Amino acid sequence: MSSYSGNIFMIVAPSGAGKSSLVNALLAEDPSLVLSISCTTRTPRPGEEHDKHYRFVTHEAFQALRDDDALLEWAEVHGNFYGTPRDRVEQAMSEGKDVLLEIDWQGARQVRRRHPEAIGIFILPPSIEALETRLTKRGQDAPHVIARRLLAAGSEMSHVSECQYVIINQEFSTALMQLGQIVAATRLRYATQAARNAELFSQLGISKTVA
Ligand code: 5GP
Repeated sequence: MSSYSGNIFMIVAPSGAGKSSLVNALLAEDPSLVLSISCTTRTPRPGEEHDKHYRFVTHEAFQALRDDDALLEWAEVHGNFYGTPRDRVEQAMSEGKDVLLEIDWQGARQVRRRHPEAIGIFILPPSIEALETRLTKRGQDAPHVIARRLLAAGSEMSHVSECQYVIINQEFSTALMQLGQIVAATRLRYATQAARNAELFSQLGISKTVA
């Protein structure tokens, strides 16, 4: 059994599936969740803040983090590098906090290698037309960037079966409720309950050994 009592939720989706809006709404509903702030070599979009949306770093700084094994996972996505700083995630988990990672399928695979109990949740758009519309409406990227992301979306979605859960983001409020339900059900799993209620389990004479 993992020595961490916190859970990892990996939210995976193609760009334009509405992932960030869902994650932000979930965090507003449940402030006990810790959002991991990724490092990236991408340049900030208008309105994006350092240390809030991403830690924007140089290629050299990213390489140094990678070499120091300071990243839980990392990947090249759309020509930029992205990675999850390991210390914040593992610190939060060891304090029993649940952590949300917004990462791509390559990162999710790496996290699962280190933390096999991590929960993968894939967010799908309700249709390819909706995906295209959302990518175009964002209006912050050049047309060639949008075209590249549409191509990448197909490849991202081909990995949907690697996640245990799939949410189709047709109706935002329904998708948000489903996300919350996955978090709630995960917190009721044996391993989490045993870690978070150690005193009760011991009082009731329940062994922590998993059969
Ligand atoms: P964007 O540049 O639109 O913010 O993100 C592009 C893609 O990079 C998204 O699919 C997002 O999930 C992924 N991404 C963001 N942060 C990370 C990270 O830390 N690790 C990995 N593997 N992917 C990430």
